[in-house]
Amino acid sequence: MAEQTIEVILGDITALAADAIVNAANSSLLGGGGVDGAIHRAAGPGLLAECREIAARQGGCPAGEAVITGAYNLSCRRVIHTVGPVWNGGSRGEPGLLASCYRKSLLLAQSEGLESIAFPNISTGVYRYPRQAAAEIAFDAVVKTLPEVPGIRRVIFVCFDRENFGIYEDLKKNII
Ligand code: ADP
Repeated sequence: MAEQTIEVILGDITALAADAIVNAANSSLLGGGGVDGAIHRAAGPGLLAECREIAARQGGCPAGEAVITGAYNLSCRRVIHTVGPVWNGGSRGEPGLLASCYRKSLLLAQSEGLESIAFPNISTGVYRYPRQAAAEIAFDAVVKTLPEVPGIRRVIFVCFDRENFGIYEDLKKNII
């Protein structure tokens, strides 16, 4: 079995030239702040137009699910929009929904023939998911799903702040 790698970097996901970058969208798919706003700004208006079409067709996207679009002015090939859970204390299904975001995004990337995928730290911004717990779920979901997606060669966790970067680096050391 050929190698599959997991990388951790500190940076801006909009600058990545991976096959797919993942957007931490909201369920309307109509754009928002944080990484969603940054991705839409960098992609240009075509991305919002395509998201509007998907939203009109399927009524947005529930938490834990993912949809795929073109990348417009971004350097990647496709954008996968997944909707993380809002943190409400942890007993409202948040862990399973967050794991599902990573899993569904990987399955979608595999089904589209993509080989590299970059994730932001889903739900750890305005959705307030505790960072350590979110990072553990992210790693666990990716490690568990990788055997089902042999076409995916590279997974890149893109941390935007040093606190998340430190958490992800520590987890990576422990896993690999
Ligand atoms: P959510 O609503 O899922 O919490 P946010 O966009 O508010 O989404 O935050 C998710 C994570 O994305 C946060 O850790 C935030 O620091 C990070 N983030 C914000 N902008 C960028 C960017 N340009 N590239 C990568 N990560 C980003």
